[in-house]
Amino acid sequence: MAPHGISICDVQAIGAALETFEKFQYVIIIYYLVERRYGPYIALSGTYRGMGTQLLFSYGNMRYSLEGKTKGMIAQSTLGFEQGPIRPPNEARSLLLRVTRNCPWNQCLFCPVYKGQKFSLRTAEEIKRDIQTAREIADDIKALSWKLGESGSVTNPVMRHILNNNHTYSYQSVAMWLYYGTGECFLQDADNLIMKTEDLIEILSFLREKFPELTRVTTYARSRTVSRKSVSELKEIKAAGLDRIHIGLESGSDRVLKFIKKGVDADRHIDAGRKVVEAGLSLSEYIMPGLGGEALWREHALETAEVLNRINPHFIRLRSLRVISHAPLYKKLENGEFKPLTDDQVVEEIKLLIENLDNSTTSTVTSDHIMNLLEEVHGKLPEDKEHMLEVIRKYQALPNSDRLIYRIGRRGGAYSSTDDLYRDSSTYEKVKNLISELSARGPDEVEQFINEMANQYV
Ligand code: SF4
Repeated sequence: MAPHGISICDVQAIGAALETFEKFQYVIIIYYLVERRYGPYIALSGTYRGMGTQLLFSYGNMRYSLEGKTKGMIAQSTLGFEQGPIRPPNEARSLLLRVTRNCPWNQCLFCPVYKGQKFSLRTAEEIKRDIQTAREIADDIKALSWKLGESGSVTNPVMRHILNNNHTYSYQSVAMWLYYGTGECFLQDADNLIMKTEDLIEILSFLREKFPELTRVTTYARSRTVSRKSVSELKEIKAAGLDRIHIGLESGSDRVLKFIKKGVDADRHIDAGRKVVEAGLSLSEYIMPGLGGEALWREHALETAEVLNRINPHFIRLRSLRVISHAPLYKKLENGEFKPLTDDQVVEEIKLLIENLDNSTTSTVTSDHIMNLLEEVHGKLPEDKEHMLEVIRKYQALPNSDRLIYRIGRRGGAYSSTDDLYRDSSTYEKVKNLISELSARGPDEVEQFINEMANQYV
């Protein structure tokens, strides 16, 4: 049994479910399998990676293959290095290296990721050893490819060979990185700019020396930490090899930031963001629709737009709020201090935010996080602003019943556009029947089902 009382089903059943979704290269599916209360509907969560004819499914440290064999626990082999628990969605195909452990702040109420984990710095020596190991793994994999007659390329036969043998998770992740060939690298965990500038420069220089093929190196950082660095320090960090920083801005409203204990105010966000841009680094600002709840949603949208206008980051990334039971915000939700927005209210809030982004703001907006209901709210400002608003209006104009079908299909991984509703009548009918069955069980069952599906992604 996996967590949440979900039985892990037979891999053939996963295969059957995946046939419906085979167009997705990388999806998290919580659609059909298991959960007794839903009768024939079985819920399962995990990560799928589409690789030609082979699909792998991993859940915790268990690993399954669509070829029908349960591989069992991932065994340890000698070559391996440390990796952290998360990375941004757009770094799914990047080389992942852990530079610090966990989060030095760790107080944001909505964030469950590092709660209970102590922050620690890693020494430059430790990190350099990991980089060296990653290099050795990459060379080992290329040598294997030559041995298998694949001329040094990491192809499906090479991947199959690696995944069918007992290698560490980090070994497999380097193999996947080579397979996808992005040349990109993401430095984990939450706030790497907290390192001394000289240490960061030392590891970035070493990384670039060992992996001259890298095309982009990215990290997470907090505004509070970034704003303590000078622009010239940030320029030195860039010169050593860092290209992009992701910052969790979340909100531009001081009241929201205080309520969720972000540990920074809007002015600090603006200062940090502007410094990053001035240093010539690429800047992604993550914002969190829904975070103001019923009480502050309007202020959250308007003041976030204002802060974004003042920073003009390269990317504005939407990551809609989900409150799960192990996030501290859940207590406030239970005691009524925080009243969450419905999916439709979040859509309205995003509309207000986008409407208030200036014509002088030239950011690219993305909704690439699975928490977002409308993935197509994406485009370059200011020219695509109208297109993004149109995506929202189109959703809002759907009949109530189709909006509900879309929400279930989206949370289940079947839909990425409202147009999908009418492209695939079989899924549409299946979801419609599911809604009827759930509704017959009780008035809250449909919303509860949607919540459970959506929360599995957190
Ligand atoms: S700073 Fe980031 S990682 Fe740390 S608690 Fe806040 S959201 Fe979580």
